[in-house]
Amino acid sequence: MTTDGFVPAGTEIGFVGLGIMGEPMARNLLRAGYSLKVHNRSRPALDRLVSEGATAAHSPAEVADGADVAITMLPDSPDVEAVVTGDDGIAASLTGGSVLIDMSTISPVMTRRLAASLAARDITMLDAPVSGGQQGAIDGALSIMVGGDKFVFEACRPIFEHLGKSITLVGESGAGQVTKACNQAIVAGTIQIVAEALTLASRSGVDPATVREALLGGFASSKILEVHGKRILDRQFDPGFKVRLHEKDLKIALETAADARVPLFTTALLKQLLTCLVAQGHGERDHSALALLTEELAGAAA
Ligand code: NAP
Repeated sequence: MTTDGFVPAGTEIGFVGLGIMGEPMARNLLRAGYSLKVHNRSRPALDRLVSEGATAAHSPAEVADGADVAITMLPDSPDVEAVVTGDDGIAASLTGGSVLIDMSTISPVMTRRLAASLAARDITMLDAPVSGGQQGAIDGALSIMVGGDKFVFEACRPIFEHLGKSITLVGESGAGQVTKACNQAIVAGTIQIVAEALTLASRSGVDPATVREALLGGFASSKILEVHGKRILDRQFDPGFKVRLHEKDLKIALETAADARVPLFTTALLKQLLTCLVAQGHGERDHSALALLTEELAGAAA
């Protein structure tokens, strides 16, 4: 890859993690003309992308072999660590001068550790977690918050522009993940308050759908009232964004806050609510399932 701010369309990109987010993101890069090699733990998404022109790789090492840029979109810190530094990992075959872009949401501490170990081999790592959900990934309209070297960030900007609309270099390595932790605290808090408001409406004998409509026109309007409020009203709890992943994100936020000696009272409570949902067997449902817990605690049938 050149570092003059231009990533040509023939650039070789390796992509690992083809889940709810990774599959549509990889598809957008393929459609943009990049030469794309893909790897995933399970087959169906891999097969779909191969039928659209991607090349299948049997391991992360194979994905990175010959790649200018490797991208990971995996659930959690241990997954990224294993895929990057494990046996047959990406690090085994990425060569000096290449770039690893981790777009998963993981710990800033793990991010900085991986970035330092790759830097020793002249491989640059950018942390570039995203916000915008599955629809944002499909539409190439994600918000991307990046940590790492400014020069390499600018060189990779053309890749980011096929994935997102809001692309911000926030700071050095780990800064993207710290930003994402802030994002996830705000999102969980907003979903919870929307769930409480809609439960309050219905338990007070007022139609919650009409309440949502009324509130969308005023100061309490938000994307989350619009999207997650509708999910709650429609009882649409298929993910979307899984409860267990949001629980993971608030764990990261609390660990980050502990390191910075910042008390996060509301985030700590939200983490406990998500833990309850996971314990109740709702970990694979959408995070708007926070409403189920609120309704249950209010004594209402879900
Ligand atoms: P997901 O649907 O669970 O997808 C994760 C993918 O990674 C799965 O396809 C999984 O394979 C694959 N995988 C896991 N371990 C692997 C390994 N060792 N080697 C190869 N592939 C492996 O999760 P997601 O919703 O796409 O989220 C991915 C990341 O983006 C997470 O960090 C999440 O917090 C973040 N995020 C998600 C959203 C959202 O709305 N979903 C929004 C913003 C950010 P299997 O198919 O075999 O499980």
